[in-house]
Amino acid sequence: MNRPADGPGRAARFAAGPALYVHVPFCAVPCAYCHFSKEHLSGAAVERWLAALELEAARSAPGARGVAFRSLFFGGGTPSALSPRHFRRAWETITRHFVLAQGAEVTLEANPETVKPGLLDAWADAGVNRLSMGAQSFVPEELAALGRIHDEKKPAQAFALARAYGFERLSLDLMFGFPGHRIDHWRHTLDAALALAPEHVSAYGYIPEHDTPMGDAVARGERHTVPPECEAEMHAIADQRFKSAGLAPYETSNWSRPGAECRHNLAYWLRRDYLALGPSAHALWRGERSANTRALADWADRLERGEDPAMERERETPESRADETMMLGLRLANGLDLGDLSAEARAELEARYAEAFAAGVAGARLERTRRGWRIPAAQRFVADDTLAWLAVRARPLAPLERAA
Ligand code: SF4
Repeated sequence: MNRPADGPGRAARFAAGPALYVHVPFCAVPCAYCHFSKEHLSGAAVERWLAALELEAARSAPGARGVAFRSLFFGGGTPSALSPRHFRRAWETITRHFVLAQGAEVTLEANPETVKPGLLDAWADAGVNRLSMGAQSFVPEELAALGRIHDEKKPAQAFALARAYGFERLSLDLMFGFPGHRIDHWRHTLDAALALAPEHVSAYGYIPEHDTPMGDAVARGERHTVPPECEAEMHAIADQRFKSAGLAPYETSNWSRPGAECRHNLAYWLRRDYLALGPSAHALWRGERSANTRALADWADRLERGEDPAMERERETPESRADETMMLGLRLANGLDLGDLSAEARAELEARYAEAFAAGVAGARLERTRRGWRIPAAQRFVADDTLAWLAVRARPLAPLERAA
């Protein structure tokens, strides 16, 4: 099979952003490793979320007047835990206040056990055209240890049902390197995942998080993550298997068929404008970063009182822009492309990082590309080390270099 070139492709880069994120903070049962903002699923909690979503959408919409969003992402939590009726209400709120561009990518995160005909109807009718399914593993004892409530057969059933309803862009989330993970089990999971012929795969290395059962067990020394060299081998095995199946790497943890890159996530990595609604949602909009309060009750309280639901708002600076451009852009497989940047952003980046990039190329941590720099493929798994190495070599910007 001809292997696609490492992406993301130019069309996907061009189609990234402006983006709109909606956080749906409900889970039937929390997983043992997960630190995302989530609440126990109940009818009353969903009603409160929907009412507050309406308030936040009305509050944010004037700032997005005239904007046609190229992607909408329902993330969670478990967006697929909403009933068809509740999903339709959320959809109606969003589309009443915001405009989606023709052909916009509309993603919904779904847990395999929740995918049912009534929901697929509601999603397809509304215009959801991409489903991202959390599978994590296809090994029964691993699913139990991770606290997943579906068995290893559910992803295949959910994929078959989604295909029958016409969904052409399906993504799978997998996890590796968690306590007890084994290479033979990982190979089995990769085979089972690829048997479903997903258009897109995300494979994340496990990170122990505080206040999660698994992360706290690691902190107490009761459980152990796999050694770094084993985790690197797992990433390399996944990369090789995905490439053989026609899925090209386009970001450290993401692979896709040509043209099937997640445009919404590309908007984050390319630092396009994105708005975000819901508890814990983070936005970058017109030069300001903001983060909503994390708990549903705090977020809804503030909105019900007519207050800003954000607990942090920060204007970007030339330095912060250059730092993020470097750190996010170099996560992409084809690296930082100066063609993606405005003249102002390019000038700030070069003023702050030209010397660090030159030192990185001289030391083989970076490769020069036609229009930028990238991390060599063999080192992509340890991209964070390279990014930290570059960050400490950033040059302070003199007032004249601060284009803003
Ligand atoms: S991994 Fe997904 S389903 Fe599990 S607790 Fe976290 S948000 Fe909920």
